[in-house]
Amino acid sequence: MQDASSRVVVLLAPPGGGKGTQAKKLVERFGMTHISVGDVLREEVRRETELGNRVKGIMEAGELVSDELVAEIIESRLNNEEESRGFILDGYPRNVAQARYLDAITDRMQVRVVNIAVAEDQVVRRLSGRRFCRDCGRIYNIYFAPSEVPAVCDVCSGVLIQRGDDKEEVISERLRVYDEQTRPVLDYYRSSNDYFEVDGNWDPADVHQEVARIVGAMV
Ligand code: AMP
Repeated sequence: MQDASSRVVVLLAPPGGGKGTQAKKLVERFGMTHISVGDVLREEVRRETELGNRVKGIMEAGELVSDELVAEIIESRLNNEEESRGFILDGYPRNVAQARYLDAITDRMQVRVVNIAVAEDQVVRRLSGRRFCRDCGRIYNIYFAPSEVPAVCDVCSGVLIQRGDDKEEVISERLRVYDEQTRPVLDYYRSSNDYFEVDGNWDPADVHQEVARIVGAMV
């Protein structure tokens, strides 16, 4: 069980808003533990586990999986990590019920919420242009950060592929779900002293400076 010295950073952003990228930079800088529900679920799908088979269709359609299921993932990750310098939650909470649940299970921890705000036209280009290496996981964007050779990873020469839910027809549904379910989470946190907003339309390195300033100030 984590105690009051445990730091929890909640990264909020629309799909394609840079949560994963910023989380990785925070891990490198502060040695924190990255918890991405989306990554956990994608791994289950890839391994074709029972859980993976259950959530595959939901994810491919751009919908949210059940609150109970993601709660289990979050709680087990938060509690099983013995020696952590803090946690970064990437993609959780996605609705107000999840935010309330998170409050309850982190009441003994220090929590800061960072919303990375990104304009919708940016988000669509980031999502539709996103590719990742099938072998090492490195992320590219065919518009903003292409690989040197198209469809080939600069680092390991692996094949670059697109996430199933980054296809154009699914992007609009993910954005609709975000507006309907996740945007109210911002209002839920907005009045708190631990809520911060960062302009996410800039270069990831600049966004990181801002986010790192907020995270670095946590005692
Ligand atoms: P992400 O990688 O964060 O974009 O998540 C990919 C997909 O995983 C989402 O579109 C949902 O289907 C599912 N997912 C991730 N996080 C959550 C969450 N907190 N609640 C429900 N579903 C989630």
